[in-house]
Amino acid sequence: MRFCRFDDNRLGVIKGDMVHDVTEALAALPPLAWPVPHGDQFFNHFDMLRPQMEALADRVPGRPVGEVRLLSPVGNPGKIVAAPVNYALHLDESRADRQINFGSEIKTIHEYGVFLKSPSSVIGAGDAVVVDWEDRRTDHEIELALVIGKQGFRIAEEDALDHVAGYMIGLDMTIRGTEDRSFRKSLDTFTVLGPHIVTADEVGNPGALDFEITVNGESRQKSNTALLILNVQQLIAYASKAYTLYPGDVIMTGTPEGVAPVKPGDVMHAWIDRVGEMSVRVA
Ligand code: MN
Repeated sequence: MRFCRFDDNRLGVIKGDMVHDVTEALAALPPLAWPVPHGDQFFNHFDMLRPQMEALADRVPGRPVGEVRLLSPVGNPGKIVAAPVNYALHLDESRADRQINFGSEIKTIHEYGVFLKSPSSVIGAGDAVVVDWEDRRTDHEIELALVIGKQGFRIAEEDALDHVAGYMIGLDMTIRGTEDRSFRKSLDTFTVLGPHIVTADEVGNPGALDFEITVNGESRQKSNTALLILNVQQLIAYASKAYTLYPGDVIMTGTPEGVAPVKPGDVMHAWIDRVGEMSVRVA
């Protein structure tokens, strides 16, 4: 199943090029009281909601998905776990290019571990990435992103895919400079998730997906998730050694070579095999 959040927080199921409004399914969610439990309320109850979403999608008419404004399909990610330098050729380019490394030694992902991006940086495909630090280089990073569907701590690699609800395209926008990654990658609008979620059963093996990003029609990054240094299963195992992964947590798996700057007015077009494609404006 493919589903999205759109317009005024509507929930949609996507079939072909049509989005079917299944917001009514959310009436089954239990009320929240402060303090809200860990995790995203939707993904904490996704298994319960899914049959009703599918039934409604069969019943209600659709409208062209191109006519709606796509929001991030994850409304309230508790945390966004991200993988630094997780493709060998991106490690090479980061070490070679002073505009990327700013004089810092670039270590390996085995030395860095993973890092966290702020949930307040998240937007959907219908919003624009705001690049307004005029004296600084801001780059695109296309990444396979996933959302956790089942809570887990110290998850074994062989069990890891059971914890994935679905996959999205992730854009990990980044200001280059000397500051910590969590600062340079957490500006408002610097995490684009979308265009929708494809449930894990439709993707199957996440370790052999072609993907590409173009800017104004020019190819910038093109690779395959088979080239990840730590693959999806290993990233889930690694992250959950440290912290419990809750439903709605997002993992961004890292970006390949070809990172390059964007400026206001650019249009990024990102595509991942079996996941989808989206155009995102830079403002
Ligand atoms: Mn990244």
